[in-house]
Amino acid sequence: MGRHKMKSGICRLCGMKTMLSFEHVPPKTTFNSSTKYSSVAFEDFIKVENPIADPPKGKIKQGGIGYNSFCERCNNFLGAEYVPAYKKWVIGGFEILLDKEYHLHYYTIKQVEPLKILKQIISMFLAINDEWYLDAYSELSTFVSDKESKILPDKFKVFSYLTRAEEIRYMHHVVKGNFKTGIPINCSEIAYPPYGYVLTIDSEQEIDKLNNITSFKNFDKPMDLNFKMFQLSTYMPFPLDYRTKSEIEIGIESNIKFRNKTSS
Ligand SMILES: [Zn+2]
Repeated sequence: MGRHKMKSGICRLCGMKTMLSFEHVPPKTTFNSSTKYSSVAFEDFIKVENPIADPPKGKIKQGGIGYNSFCERCNNFLGAEYVPAYKKWVIGGFEILLDKEYHLHYYTIKQVEPLKILKQIISMFLAINDEWYLDAYSELSTFVSDKESKILPDKFKVFSYLTRAEEIRYMHHVVKGNFKTGIPINCSEIAYPPYGYVLTIDSEQEIDKLNNITSFKNFDKPMDLNFKMFQLSTYMPFPLDYRTKSEIEIGIESNIKFRNKTSS
């Protein structure tokens, strides 16, 4: 079926060593069935002097973005239990997304199911991370695999923002000095229109301009939600970097000037 092959490995949800099916991240039905995208290696980005003016060309991939990360049973479970609720949340985001780099949106989505949305988001973080993640943070898969569970330990925080995802961003687990504060953050990030998400672990910090949506875990009934959410840009392949194009260009220019000065 399809062009996505099964691969052997450990299912990131149930932990079984078996054949893993291709999981679309985000779900195929949320506008990720025919995504054509170029994947640029992080190292290639670093090598280019000005990646905005002269973007490195990546390998073109087609047929939606995804990972062989769940067994067929878990894949079907996610599709049946969480994806419909997630899709509604995604459509709400698309409806208000603007052709802008930076904007604060006020909006309401009617009858959303926060707990299911959060479980779907966390399943996406399980999908993009390696097998060790399942052992290290088993509370995540326990939370996702039990559809009733509201237990997500406080050390896990999930943040969201709106984005056109100028460059889609799939950052598996990294420890990153926060751009603004300089304090290291243990995080993982996914940005694909219309939302970006950051999962932090063992961090007390809130993230400037991002909505902390961890409390979604407490709401298992459909409800109308009012949001105040920023639309941010993701031009560079770095976690927590939401600089606009011109902010990045200014940064690049001053780097080039500095380099020319020190080399002459
Ligand atoms: Zn499984």
